[in-house]
Amino acid sequence: MQIIDKFWSLFSHDIAIDLGTANTLVYVRGKGIVINEPSTVAINQKTKQVLAIGEEAKKMVGRTPAHIVAIRPLVDGVISDFEVTEQMLKYFIDKVHREKFSLFPRPRVIIGIPYGVTEVERRAVEEAAINAGAREVFLIEEPLAAAIGARLPVQDAAGNMVVDIGGGTTEVAVVSLGGIVASRSLRIAGDELNEDIINFAREQFSLVLGERTAEEIKIAVGSARELKETLTYPMRGRDLVTGLPKEVIVNDEQIRSAIRKSIQQIIDAVKQTIEETPPELVADIMSKGIFLCGGGALLRGLDQLISQYTQTIVHISDDPLTAVVRGTGMVLEDLENLRPVLVPSKPIY
Ligand code: ADP
Ligand code: MG
Repeated sequence: MQIIDKFWSLFSHDIAIDLGTANTLVYVRGKGIVINEPSTVAINQKTKQVLAIGEEAKKMVGRTPAHIVAIRPLVDGVISDFEVTEQMLKYFIDKVHREKFSLFPRPRVIIGIPYGVTEVERRAVEEAAINAGAREVFLIEEPLAAAIGARLPVQDAAGNMVVDIGGGTTEVAVVSLGGIVASRSLRIAGDELNEDIINFAREQFSLVLGERTAEEIKIAVGSARELKETLTYPMRGRDLVTGLPKEVIVNDEQIRSAIRKSIQQIIDAVKQTIEETPPELVADIMSKGIFLCGGGALLRGLDQLISQYTQTIVHISDDPLTAVVRGTGMVLEDLENLRPVLVPSKPIY
């Protein structure tokens, strides 16, 4: 069995997947990241037909006629729409696999899942991947993958702290000896900040914003802490009163105050996790610092604000949006040594 497995692995393009609420990334063994697209699927509700997946589907968000919906099948880091998730996975797996390598065997797949998901949710991911064409599926907890992606020595007896701020969830974790020692997961992350901006525009200016516009504003002028220079951005939407198009220029300070409460909750989660961490590991974290990853890590000044509240150095990991998939990819490349960090799995059959 082992020999056959080794034989297959010579030919199959084993892949690592970060199935995020906002973005799905795929890493192919020996090649690196080959897919990086939004976790969005556009569906015709009348025919149930999938019209577009990924980038193309995201462009349709908020711009579709009534019978076409652009949905994100993952909510809060877990599968909320099983069938659509499966189709999306299949599309991405096919994209790297079937096109050019139809003669190769089905791939082995490692998928990152949020820490603390239920057994049922885990099974759902495994099953979706098997149905989507995987030969074998391994799961890894995302905070561990993120820590590996940040090149932290996760298998040593030392504390490593990562904060992964994605679209749907923020995951805070302390990792030591290949496992998670303390953690917090909260449903406040990038999407919530967009919501905050939408609410702010409605309350302050009777301006109705689309989700994508809110995200654009966040990325253009959003910040967690006062900036050296003022940033401004034209906020465009529909006037709630007149129903007509309207533009309001906003600045970083307004957006900062709009998202303040959510940012505070993220910081509180980091502090609470530190409070639950054994003192020896806290000492390690103090010397190494806290590592931020996920798209939310790019919010201006968030690293400094977390540092200020925790009295600890904070690093933004290199290319935070790809940390999880790179970490998962590193496990794929060195499965023999890193197998202990995977979620122990029971066969599905
Ligand atoms: P997930 O793992 O849930 O798919 P990601 O790690 O891909 O999430 O991060 C996506 C989130 O990061 C989105 O909410 C997006 O708006 C946010 N994001 C991306 N770039 C920036 C930026 N420069 N500033 C603030 N937020 C950002
Ligand atoms: Mg993520």
